[in-house]
Amino acid sequence: MMQRALFSRGALLAQQTSAALEGPLAARSAPVLLRQDRSMSSVTIPPPACMLRPLEVPLRYLFGPGPSNVPPRILAAGSRPIIGHLHPEMYEIMNDIKKGIQYAFQTENNMTIAMSGSGHAAMECAVFNTVEPGESVLIAINGIWGERVAEIAERMGANVQRMVKTPGGYFTNTEIEQAIKKHKPVLFFLTHGESSAGLCHPVDGIGDICRKHDCLFLVDTVASLGAAPIFMDKQNIDILYSGSQKALNAPPGTAPISFNDRACHKMFNRKTKPVSYLFDMTHLSNYWGCDGKPARVYHHTGPVSGFFALRESLAILAERGLEESWKKHKEVAAYLYRGLEDLGLKLFVPERDLRLPSVTTIAIPEGYDWREMLTYIMKHHHMEMTGGLGPSIGMVS
Ligand code: PMP
Repeated sequence: MMQRALFSRGALLAQQTSAALEGPLAARSAPVLLRQDRSMSSVTIPPPACMLRPLEVPLRYLFGPGPSNVPPRILAAGSRPIIGHLHPEMYEIMNDIKKGIQYAFQTENNMTIAMSGSGHAAMECAVFNTVEPGESVLIAINGIWGERVAEIAERMGANVQRMVKTPGGYFTNTEIEQAIKKHKPVLFFLTHGESSAGLCHPVDGIGDICRKHDCLFLVDTVASLGAAPIFMDKQNIDILYSGSQKALNAPPGTAPISFNDRACHKMFNRKTKPVSYLFDMTHLSNYWGCDGKPARVYHHTGPVSGFFALRESLAILAERGLEESWKKHKEVAAYLYRGLEDLGLKLFVPERDLRLPSVTTIAIPEGYDWREMLTYIMKHHHMEMTGGLGPSIGMVS
């Protein structure tokens, strides 16, 4: 069957992958096949030499703001055999992921899924579904992530209002309420863990302010989920998203997101369709079994292995417990602060309580080139550390 498919050059051949051809059949017949293929070849571009070399991946200590090193248990989950993305077993796994995210976010929201994509997919999904062109949105910017969401909202035609602080700065609830009163946004965005500055922004009270002024509260926890406390329901957060590759320790490529009833009401009663088909929550809610319909229909092919790994990372978080995970991150961060200060280095965020436990930022010492330092550390210690991003470039490492 496989051999016939190989020579037919038809649709079946297109389905075969080189991995599927490995094994006893390939061992016996590959050289003959290769010779035959070459002599009959119609291709003018030869196979690239790099593709004939084995994959090489160095072992690195990933101490940047993500991705982080992935424990063997999660790597093993990601290497399980592929099953169909619409198989009942896959739905079970997706249901488990939904439960795991609900726990990590501390929410009972039914509309809780994982995006097929990195944190940016969740950012775009949140904005594209809840905002319509011309509507006002207010973005708190104290590092790159607010800037990024402002750009995403601008691209889809929103009327973007910015409140800006220098990296490491934070907004008081009074400042936020004043800006909401002034701009009357349909959505207010805040980054919980600003990885480009190493700041963990206080969240308490902001959800209530948003409710009072009929505005949705959107929070980014890509860099903070599992490392610093967040309580979606208790803190009245309407839309919350995260990423897989930071404190969850899964490979990059999937991103948890959740919408509460207020957010669902807004996104499912819009006049225009969201600009993205892939991120349209009417389809994604069905794919994740959140829309109450009896059948899930094909929308796109989810990253099956990525979902296996995400499930495992959420299982580890559930076994350890959120409070224990927050405590561990805090303890390890405190140990790191002591070590850095003993070396005479200055931490970028002076207020200890505002430091993000998962990403520690060091003020670049006077007279040093941060690029040279990071290259030296990578070359001699195989340790990845990164510089600032966006407005914090040149300020932190
Ligand atoms: N938000 C924050 C706070 C982040 O740290 C990152 C990634 N560094 C993102 C969003 C974007 O996530 P991704 O790179 O997974 O798209």
